[in-house]
Amino acid sequence: MILKKQDKYIFTPGPVRMYEETLNLGGVQTPYFRNNEFSNVLLECEENLIQISNAPSGSRVLFLTASGTAGMEAVVQNLLNSKDKALVVNGGGFGQRFVDICDIHNIKREDCKIQNTNLSDTTILDKYKDCSSLLVNAHETSIGTLYNLESIGKFTKKNKMLNIVDAISMFITDELDMIKHHIDVLIISSHKGLALPPGLSMVILSPYAIKNINPRNQLYLDFNSYISDGKRGQTPFTPAVTIILQLQARLKQIKSDTLEIHIAKAKSIAKYFRDSIKSLPLELYSDFMPNAMTTLRTTDGKKASEIVIDLDEKYNIIVTPNGGVLKDKIFRISHMGNMTKEYVDILVDALYDYYKIKKER
Ligand SMILES: *Cc1c(COP(=O)(O)O)cnc(C)c1O
Repeated sequence: MILKKQDKYIFTPGPVRMYEETLNLGGVQTPYFRNNEFSNVLLECEENLIQISNAPSGSRVLFLTASGTAGMEAVVQNLLNSKDKALVVNGGGFGQRFVDICDIHNIKREDCKIQNTNLSDTTILDKYKDCSSLLVNAHETSIGTLYNLESIGKFTKKNKMLNIVDAISMFITDELDMIKHHIDVLIISSHKGLALPPGLSMVILSPYAIKNINPRNQLYLDFNSYISDGKRGQTPFTPAVTIILQLQARLKQIKSDTLEIHIAKAKSIAKYFRDSIKSLPLELYSDFMPNAMTTLRTTDGKKASEIVIDLDEKYNIIVTPNGGVLKDKIFRISHMGNMTKEYVDILVDALYDYYKIKKER
């Protein structure tokens, strides 16, 4: 393993460990972009994203130069208005973010707080079926719960709701299919499963969603202008050119490997990690974990927040702390990006060393 002195081993749910090719593409002069050469890159990215997400025919991809939260906010601003009522599935920090976005923009919303369910059974949502749209984070990254997109999609279809899914932290690692899951709007971003630097978010709109875009009500993130400029492979303003070139290469790779292979890889890495730590005083926090991430609870009273600091200071390893009431209870390990069993072993070995427990081979 080549590790530059300043490098840390990272196991965070964004940024994630990047691939060598992505890193190399980041080191070249940024090209000019108002030309056919760049238009072709953007059009190729759009086509590949539509294929990988299995978006319905006629769907469009908007490339926003901003982090994922801007994608979430822009979707609310461009697709919802005073006639709407949004049902927010609120299972943690990212669900709450959708609630906050609706409130800031004066969109009526129901705040459906949920716990210990992945919504395979959507009965709890039934009382909100008069809502016009549903907002959900497919993977609630704050605690590591993956929702059942199939049952949620059935629920929104049956009740004629616009199904808006933030798939930012499960795209590429966990199953997602816009047609099968009846998704109208999909929000993804660069620095999670796609393993690119932060700075780009993408919104995939079904033809039905495109029909529901509000008239222009802002400048930078107005979807109407992204739709019209996107037809010729351009964006209204300077895009994150380098990240788009890195995206082009990643999508080409994912398409040729197939998405299934990437999902299977993340699944096997997650399983390998979970199996490897069975004799440690740690247990899985969520019953509905994605392949993308493992959330661990300490069982020996040790403070999770201290483990996070110690792993960094003693082993150069970055795992993810939680805030608020969960600060001392849980911490999170991402499996997204360029993960190998050898790389996961660095963390596993460190944990065994930290607890002074001998690892069985
Ligand atoms: C990371 C993440 C986002 C976006 O967060 P940014 O800090 O804006 O990149 C949104 N939703 C979920 C579920 C996420 O995991």
